[in-house]
Amino acid sequence: MSASVLPPVSTTHRLGLDPIATPDRLLLGPGPSNAHPTVLQALSRTPIGHLDPLYVELMGEVQELLRYTWQTDNRLTIPMSGTGSAAMEATLANTVEPGDKVLVAIKGYFGHRLADMAGRYRADVVTIERPWGEAFSLDEIEQALITHKPAILAIVHAETSTGVLQPMDGIGDLCRRHDCLLLLDTVTSLGAVPLFLDAWKVDLAYSCSQKGLSCPPGLGPFSMGPRAEAKMMGRQGKVPNWYLDVTLLNQYWGTDRTYHHTAPVNMNFGMREALRLLAEEGLENAWDRHRRNAEALWSGLESLGLELHVPAELRLPTLTTVRIPEGVDGKAFSLYLLNKHGIEVGGGLGALAGKVWRIGLMGYNSTPENVERLLTLFATELPAFRASAPVAAAVA
Ligand SMILES: *Cc1c(COP(=O)(O)O)cnc(C)c1O
Repeated sequence: MSASVLPPVSTTHRLGLDPIATPDRLLLGPGPSNAHPTVLQALSRTPIGHLDPLYVELMGEVQELLRYTWQTDNRLTIPMSGTGSAAMEATLANTVEPGDKVLVAIKGYFGHRLADMAGRYRADVVTIERPWGEAFSLDEIEQALITHKPAILAIVHAETSTGVLQPMDGIGDLCRRHDCLLLLDTVTSLGAVPLFLDAWKVDLAYSCSQKGLSCPPGLGPFSMGPRAEAKMMGRQGKVPNWYLDVTLLNQYWGTDRTYHHTAPVNMNFGMREALRLLAEEGLENAWDRHRRNAEALWSGLESLGLELHVPAELRLPTLTTVRIPEGVDGKAFSLYLLNKHGIEVGGGLGALAGKVWRIGLMGYNSTPENVERLLTLFATELPAFRASAPVAAAVA
């Protein structure tokens, strides 16, 4: 019997690397935002088993604190393993049956993503649209519900691509009256701006860990109310996505604790700490802090002669779109902020590409110090990027 002969090990892909050394950036863009130091410490703890009774207890704490943060009693409130888009997909995957009419109210980039996903689950997707920087009126929504009679209305609360906060008054009531589920994207609002899932009669919601919650990316909070649960339980076929199937996940997050997939335990350590810190601060205080700091940013930018893209009454405290002045190379300025000052600011997406900067003040990053630091840089450094400025100043 001859021993099997192994081929020689190839060293083609064997990089010889130094230990990781990432810079400490200040992330004032559309996300991720900086994580709270306490959250980072929690992430580096030794993992425990995902069926360990202590972990099971922690799961309950995360669920309960998510309910507080969302102001909901929804039993099915869990962090999906994956980023916000995984939780977004979970809301649709579990409730959409082929041929269901899904109405997506699109006023920015993430509305388009919802429409794309709903189509992949074979929904009959219909859309209404507003220009990037505007919100929907109750009347427009009602007209669309009457015209299309959808099974689900999907809308984004805080549009990170435009900096618009959709007013929610009355939308939930309309959806009940027209027998339709209300699906709300709360990715850039959770933990940072007033949000009341139950009082607003929201049936399905999702968010992410890396914006208002001061965690790194990796978890997507998900919540499903009783009306959405009834639709899911009445489906003809299986949920067409195994990983995000809430009927299966419920056996792990519910009382059975049956293995489905290995929970990212350390991410949930971080989430637990992030939510604990938020509960300690109190939701009203966190919401106030975000509004105060955003208002300071807005008035500071305006006093520098810069124009904000969104009218004051629709402005989103977590994300501000600032029009890039005529003659300024917006990309060059944000690269300069990143390379010289370690500060990330976002650029425009879609209809706003090249037209705005996107400044995020989310979670741990929403502080008067960060506002002050950024305003000082806009005041002192931006003039060199104006077309009329001497070239030497721009490269200094
Ligand atoms: C960031 C974001 C998402 C997607 O979340 P990921 O964590 O990037 O997957 C969805 N909706 C909105 C409004 C967002 O800002």
